[in-house]
Amino acid sequence: MTTLPDTLPSTIQGMKTLPPYKLVSRDNHPQNTVIKLGTAQIGKGTTIIAGPCAVENRETMLKLASSLSSLGVHILRGGAYKPRTSPYSFDGLGKEGLEILAEAKKYSGLPIITELTDIRHIDLLCAYADIIQVGSRNMQNFSLLKELGRVNHPVMLKRGLSATLEEWLLAAEYIMAEGNPNVILCERGIRSFDSYTRNTFDINAVPAIKNLSHLPLIADPSHGTGRRELVAPVAKAALAAGADGIMVEVHPQPAQALSDGQQSLTLDEMGQMMAQMKSVAPQLAG
Ligand code: PEP
Ligand code: MN
Repeated sequence: MTTLPDTLPSTIQGMKTLPPYKLVSRDNHPQNTVIKLGTAQIGKGTTIIAGPCAVENRETMLKLASSLSSLGVHILRGGAYKPRTSPYSFDGLGKEGLEILAEAKKYSGLPIITELTDIRHIDLLCAYADIIQVGSRNMQNFSLLKELGRVNHPVMLKRGLSATLEEWLLAAEYIMAEGNPNVILCERGIRSFDSYTRNTFDINAVPAIKNLSHLPLIADPSHGTGRRELVAPVAKAALAAGADGIMVEVHPQPAQALSDGQQSLTLDEMGQMMAQMKSVAPQLAG
């Protein structure tokens, strides 16, 4: 058996292989990436993103935006283009939804995150959104990811429905490799055998991703559980495990929501959760 000479670099001596996601990896970039937007510093402290699953109408969105801003939320979410499992479900207001989001931003002062579902809408979304969301169903839409690598907008990349951590990080690498360093990762639960919850929020992924990558990591306990009563405890668990923030769905009347009502918090519940989260995220107390 041959032994390796002492002069070889430690990576070879210890047989440490570098990960295939070079730009995303913490190996080459030890310090956290921080993305500044409005009052948020995503990747430093705790960032709270909240809003309805979908933009439904102007009045509801404006009222909700100002209430969420008063609760201390940093970024407003709302889908104008919704990827739906059934072709017969409400799939968003499209451009009208983006216009409502722009008004809500003006009214509340909150930056906007909204989902890009179709590469043909990229210029339109960039004109309205502060952060572009890539949904789970598009995590491996490589042409979409490459195109997002060519814009400067921050991109929030949600984990695919059954993507491994490596597949997810390689998807982020697609965006960075085209020149956009502003990538945020979002753990939103994965498919499991248990149908009690919609998905299983992968708490393991939180510290694992923070070890593997310098990119900010946001937790989505709404899609991660699919059940309103589980959202606050899972949000707290994610923050305690090291997530840089959370994204949650909130609706003034969840029973009337056009999508994801069963996992949406009421405004009262959102207020209670903000108070509860201070125990694990003291920076929110300010
Ligand atoms: C959403 O955020 O509303 C959404 C569709 O999420 P996901 O892509 O995680 O299913
Ligand atoms: Mn949703």
